[in-house]
Amino acid sequence: MTKITPQPGILDIAPYQGGASHVAGIENVVKLSSNENPLGPSDKAKAAYARAGHSLHRYPPSDHGALHTAIAEVYGLDAARIICGAGSDEVIAFLCQAYAGPGTEVVHTEHGFGMYRINALAAGATPIEVAERERVTDVGAILAACTDKTALVFMANPNNPTGTMISAAEVQKLAEGLPEQALLVLDGAYAEYVEGYDGGAALVDQRENVVMTRTFSKIYGLGGLRIGWGYGPSHVIDVLNRIRGPFNASQAALDAAEAAVRDTAHTAHCRAENARWRVWLSDALAEIGVPSDVSCTNFVLARFATAEEATAVDAYLKSQGLIVRPVGSYNLPHCLRITVGDESSCRRVVHAVRTFKEGGQDDTSL
Ligand SMILES: *Cc1c(COP(=O)(O)O)cnc(C)c1O
Repeated sequence: MTKITPQPGILDIAPYQGGASHVAGIENVVKLSSNENPLGPSDKAKAAYARAGHSLHRYPPSDHGALHTAIAEVYGLDAARIICGAGSDEVIAFLCQAYAGPGTEVVHTEHGFGMYRINALAAGATPIEVAERERVTDVGAILAACTDKTALVFMANPNNPTGTMISAAEVQKLAEGLPEQALLVLDGAYAEYVEGYDGGAALVDQRENVVMTRTFSKIYGLGGLRIGWGYGPSHVIDVLNRIRGPFNASQAALDAAEAAVRDTAHTAHCRAENARWRVWLSDALAEIGVPSDVSCTNFVLARFATAEEATAVDAYLKSQGLIVRPVGSYNLPHCLRITVGDESSCRRVVHAVRTFKEGGQDDTSL
């Protein structure tokens, strides 16, 4: 038996399972499992990425100044209180590394994003899962779960994988009610899909106990580059910058993200297309007996009668080259999370689910 052992908590981590992207034996799959933008990034972002290819031998800047300025201008924020990471996942990791540890608790919601628990355990903290009310964040329950050991409270708004969101007034109530040593992290990965929503930025500006995380992986279509950001009070940003590696974001990622955030016309186009096909998808599914909550994101959480039915539908969709996301690991075994794709992908998914429902394919034949 080796005496070399990791820190307590590490072996309790169940490794994160990303959305599948292949089906054995099928060439042209439609991937609707990772909430990627079917329209891809802005052409300006692609051009900036290509230009960065000429200076691969150079280290990137460590202050991320140009990207901070671009984000601050587009979102109306204070550039000095922005931090960039290799995806917002890295910002979440910094937060746990800095504020959580053995003897502290990290609160997250029942169907919250898997990285909160993973990073809490990696830091040696105890993750605390709080029940939702019918797949909606329950602020009262979160406040009731807080103790004098609570270090961080993670909440995605809108949430993944439920797609639901709570009002700014509710979020404010949460921030105001937290114990004084606790920091609220508002994960705004899907904020750009909600017209006119600031992701909690105004609340960050008003308070000392709220941080917002954002990403370039969703509406900006740059998941492959790994770039995200956080916005918080100066005392928090100062702490996170102390543990951030100097070159945690590549030049290509910084340049592509800057071009992407400045191309507000492309962002608006993606938001509008997503809203249109999201409504179409959820309505068409509802018509064939598959309900979902009103989604504020770029995916729909489709609810089936039983876990067995969801599993059988998932297998049938796969056989048709359509990859969606089973969410059993999020305690939603009767649901499938389906990214809103382009028109043809949405039509193919609905067609396949309808065929399944009409008995074109049943459990026993799979
Ligand atoms: C996709 C997603 C992220 C983004 O992660 P990145 O590391 O920025 O790619 C963060 N939070 C939630 C809830 C997400 O769904």
